[in-house]
Amino acid sequence: MGGNHDLPSLPGYKGEALKILREAEAQAGDLIRIFKDGTSYEGVLMPRSEYGDERHIVIKIRSGYNIGVRVTADTRVEKVGAGAKVTFKPPPPPKQRPNLPRVSILSTGGTIASRVDYRTGAVRPAISAEDLYSIVPELSDIAVIETEVIFSLFSEDLTPKHWTRIAETVAKRIGEGVDGVVITHGTDTMAYTAAALSFALQDLPVPVVLVGAQRSEDRPSSDAALNLIGAVSAAAEAPFAEVVVAMHETVSDNAVAFHRGTKVRKCHTSRRDAFKSVNVNPLARLADGQLTMLTEDYRKRDHDRELTLKPNFDERVALIKFYPGMNPRLIDLYVDLGYRGLILEGTGLGHVGRKCFPSIRKAVERGLIVAMASQCIWGRVNMNVYTNGRDLLALGVIPLGDMLAETALVKLMWALGETDDPEEAKALLRTNMAGEVSARSIYI
Ligand code: ASP
Repeated sequence: MGGNHDLPSLPGYKGEALKILREAEAQAGDLIRIFKDGTSYEGVLMPRSEYGDERHIVIKIRSGYNIGVRVTADTRVEKVGAGAKVTFKPPPPPKQRPNLPRVSILSTGGTIASRVDYRTGAVRPAISAEDLYSIVPELSDIAVIETEVIFSLFSEDLTPKHWTRIAETVAKRIGEGVDGVVITHGTDTMAYTAAALSFALQDLPVPVVLVGAQRSEDRPSSDAALNLIGAVSAAAEAPFAEVVVAMHETVSDNAVAFHRGTKVRKCHTSRRDAFKSVNVNPLARLADGQLTMLTEDYRKRDHDRELTLKPNFDERVALIKFYPGMNPRLIDLYVDLGYRGLILEGTGLGHVGRKCFPSIRKAVERGLIVAMASQCIWGRVNMNVYTNGRDLLALGVIPLGDMLAETALVKLMWALGETDDPEEAKALLRTNMAGEVSARSIYI
């Protein structure tokens, strides 16, 4: 990480293709000409995926299309011109105004910390929290910013160990007296991290705001700047002291919604307003510089409150989505692997097929905690309505109300990270710790 980022010279090339490109002293981004079978092909040499074969060279031709040319014994490559080196130098950070609230921005990677490589169209995580700060200078009007890179990963590569590291870093910054913390994060698993931090950071005195972007900050259509401004504003001044996700409220660039960390899901692959609060309203919104609370039920900011850090997660918990015809041996497999807990994402009000019952009985007898969330997005489980639900309750399956299945997974990992006693872990699972179960679900 840092301000200047070079690319490797021939990413993805191997074998024959690599050899012939090396001989021509070509690098990705160079204009090259390939001679083969009496024809020549000219274009910009493209990097390849690491899973690409050894025999093709990929170039972007004048029309903008990429073509792959198969390397044969008589193929020759000539370098026609050097490509511009892909580097990125952010502008210098703006001047700080010492009287403003202090906000810590922690960077973990994802699209929000990425740039598009325009030659290839690929997005790579490449810029730090500090770079973001200098690219969005408006932040200096909102807060005095301290930045730190915790790691630089796409969020699908994160594990519960990363949640622990984030939680510990946040606790450290809060211990140093910041007025709020912003965590830049990939959007794919941001809701999982938000839930994890909601359980790990108890009695928060100040806001902890996760923020991401659906399009990287150097694209004209990027949502990064608005999301970041919203996140830093909330960290600096919001009246709540909870873990939230800050993302576009709608597809337009005019408002940021703040979703409670245990009640939020990424609901769209690409839209800017991909994140939605499920079964509850968002906690707050920011529009025209004005932050409005959308509920009265929230923990208030209080600098004097003492944070309790509980950052451990037991990874021996699985989330199993039931589907028609599911082989019950999948449940047995987790039992045999020594797992300690299973979250079943059941159908409708909280069901799995009867064929799974013997395996569930065995899991419970072996001491696993087995709990039920619904694969419906809206509503809550109710296992008293149908015989199958009642029988599952009798087997010892714990119903989880309107807790999101992902939140349930994270919560059980956390509960089992907290205690070795399954009864205590069950009691934690049944207790509403961070707004993960709402008293009443709204139906949207
Ligand atoms: N795959 C990316 C990630 O979650 C997507 C993003 O950042 O929005 O890290």
